[in-house]
Amino acid sequence: MGWVTGHAPHPDHLASCIQCGLCLPSCPTFRLTGLETASPRGRLTAMSAAEAGYPVDERFAEIMGSCLQCRACEVVCPAFVPFGKSMEGARAEIAAQLPGTGRRLRKWVTGHLLRSRRTLRLVTALASAAQSFRLEVLAPRKIKGALIGLRRLSGRPRSVLGATHPARGEARQVAALLAGCVMDQWFGDVHLATIELLTRAGCDVVVPPAQTCCGALAAHDGWADEARDMAAANVAALDGADLVVANAAGCSAHMKEYGHWSENGADLAAKVVDATEAVAAAIDDGRLPRLERNGRRVAVQDPCHLRHVQRIIDQPREILAAAGFDVVEIDPAGQCCGAAGLYSLLEPEMSGRLGRAKAEQIRAAEAAVVSSANPGCEIQLRAHLASLGVPVRIAHPLELYWEMLTGQPADNGRKHAVR
Ligand code: SF4
Ligand code: SF4
Repeated sequence: MGWVTGHAPHPDHLASCIQCGLCLPSCPTFRLTGLETASPRGRLTAMSAAEAGYPVDERFAEIMGSCLQCRACEVVCPAFVPFGKSMEGARAEIAAQLPGTGRRLRKWVTGHLLRSRRTLRLVTALASAAQSFRLEVLAPRKIKGALIGLRRLSGRPRSVLGATHPARGEARQVAALLAGCVMDQWFGDVHLATIELLTRAGCDVVVPPAQTCCGALAAHDGWADEARDMAAANVAALDGADLVVANAAGCSAHMKEYGHWSENGADLAAKVVDATEAVAAAIDDGRLPRLERNGRRVAVQDPCHLRHVQRIIDQPREILAAAGFDVVEIDPAGQCCGAAGLYSLLEPEMSGRLGRAKAEQIRAAEAAVVSSANPGCEIQLRAHLASLGVPVRIAHPLELYWEMLTGQPADNGRKHAVR
């Protein structure tokens, strides 16, 4: 039947693949399986076949579903094939052509739950209660890892939405912070560190209340209309600031592509920075200080949506070095940890193999702290380190810098430890 939606992969994008295979060694799923159908080239070939009229069936969905959307293939592609956009289009076709209970549930989670503050508060309260009674062990296997990997949640988290925080000293810029969905309720300390550092760097920080989830998870799962609605809401809510700052790699990467998701999104997209970029720039030009070396080692994990999609590699390391840490590399290739949004729930076997490999790299590095700038990666790493029995703390690089700057742990050192 071929494509049926307006979101399908663009024919020119598919035709731009020259089938050279240079992407294959960089693809985590090809490396694990050796299968052409689990490679970028194989997936693009399957998309071209669907474009030519082959049915979008469950086999097609399986080939697309095993992709992590890590976009490591884009970095090495000599033809600059926009693989991520093509995959989002293919997933939109699957969502439209293969409706089923599981997919409808995912649509509700990514398209509704994540933008309903009230529902998310309820979920957070339940998860917090489950943590208090150690009920994770009773959870179904598929979600047990995600529950074990969570930080200690508050049953009544404080939202940063609606707040304004004036710059310390002369205001140079207005920065609008994306509160996000789970970032606002589960990662309040990352927001605290981000706001404190931005105000010290001369930013008036605003957190407009009309904003919503960035829409990345909906877009990656094929719910293009919902992703477009969320992008439009954020473009309207965050307009007017000099900078738009997101402190989760997946969110900043997606918002930099708002030109694709919203008719008026290009201007806002041009103002989006990941928080690591904003803070590294402030350290670089002297608005934030460099601290003396403290002799402590911090391992760096590179989220794919920071390293491959935004090509942000140096900034987290510069922030950690400015905090006085010795930066420890764990994986020069920056292979995906297997978190990948909903992937750990939908493809637990492949996700588990990648998560275990990353946890082993961290164990080998013998660092007591790991820095990660993406919530999904943090959850995945904590779950797999816990299963290895390795007591490593995982925190956002901005939290670590903020703590060293103030001598005050954002969370008094409790929430991040392996539980
Ligand atoms: S996005 Fe990642 S998993 Fe998917 S084809 Fe590209 S390299 Fe492979
Ligand atoms: S590297 Fe690019 S052009 Fe070559 S096979 Fe992979 S996607 Fe196609």
